[in-house]
Amino acid sequence: MKILISGGAGFIGSAVIRKAIADGHAVVNLDALTYAACLENVASVADSPLYHFEHADICDRAALARIFERHKPDAVMHLAAESHVDRSIDGPGAFIETNITGTYNMLEAARAHWIAQGRPESFRFHHISTDEVFGSLPGDPKVKFTEETPYDPRSPYSASKAASDHLVRAWHETYGLPVVLSNCSNNYGPYHFPEKLIPVIILNALAGKPLPIYGNGANIRDWLYVEDHADALLTVLRKGEVGRSYNIGGENERSNLELVQTLCAILNDMRPAGHSYADLITYVADRPGHDARYAIDPTRIREELGWRPSVTVEEGLRRTVQWYLENEDWWRALQNRAGVGERLGVSA
Ligand code: NAD
Repeated sequence: MKILISGGAGFIGSAVIRKAIADGHAVVNLDALTYAACLENVASVADSPLYHFEHADICDRAALARIFERHKPDAVMHLAAESHVDRSIDGPGAFIETNITGTYNMLEAARAHWIAQGRPESFRFHHISTDEVFGSLPGDPKVKFTEETPYDPRSPYSASKAASDHLVRAWHETYGLPVVLSNCSNNYGPYHFPEKLIPVIILNALAGKPLPIYGNGANIRDWLYVEDHADALLTVLRKGEVGRSYNIGGENERSNLELVQTLCAILNDMRPAGHSYADLITYVADRPGHDARYAIDPTRIREELGWRPSVTVEEGLRRTVQWYLENEDWWRALQNRAGVGERLGVSA
């Protein structure tokens, strides 16, 4: 397949590109190179004849039309988005533009291309979304997000992603565009931008700085190793039923405090510092509207598509810490970018 991947210079998109090329697919990476992008993430495949880069903004419809015309992709995987909840609180406008209008532009460009190609049944528009569109769960471990859970987004980020999911479904129902959707839980792993919780904790610990925990640390997330997510996304693209959505999760629920304590224990083991890193844990003001719990029920993707994650959260976190210890040049360069290292998202 020739796959047009938007947002391929970001955390998850780059993992998808590395795996897609390893699997023998041709890839066009379409990315605007915002503050969150890093082309180093795809350096290992950039010289492959299967890889092509297009520097473009999904808000630029003319550029999208040219790119579809030039590359004539067999499938689209749409990951480009503004993705940081804290930034969405301080500046929601960029989230509305990229996540909603940008998705609309991608759908229209894909639809025009699909019609020009004679409406091939094999074409796919795969929209990559988040479990945050479902809102916040109660503590009862039996209650999880399924594909039938009503949407209830509560942050500007999750509301913009929910809007984009609705557009994608509407383009299928109204125009017949062959779409698939997926909603995933929190990812972690190599190349995670150093403003998100796990890299912040690892890098602050290494620098001997406080390890900030929002509120009381009781908020629960369901963690998935990014390379397992990339594998799931390519599985949904190849085997998912048109018009259907798939929840993707690692079945690894942890409170933020438990997660940080696990990271501290791994760091104590891998990079002993003469003190326990957990001594650096510091509680800070909570995020406004902080969702209490996310947890995915992955029954559909497991039973219909035969997918399940390959690593436990303990193994994935060890691999992640190891990667940050070995790739200091990568994260040091990103720490100079605007907003990184600052407390964001308290303006509400
Ligand atoms: P990221 O912020 O690391 O990367 C986003 C990429 O999109 C960047 O390379 C950026 O330059 C690009 N981009 C942003 N605006 C653009 C625009 N207007 N035009 C073209 N490119 C643009 O994000 P991520 O964590 O890799 O997330 C990728 C997708 O997966 C997003 O759609 C996100 O909602 C979804 N998702 C993320 C998670 C997670 O835990 N990170 C979980 C579930 C779903």
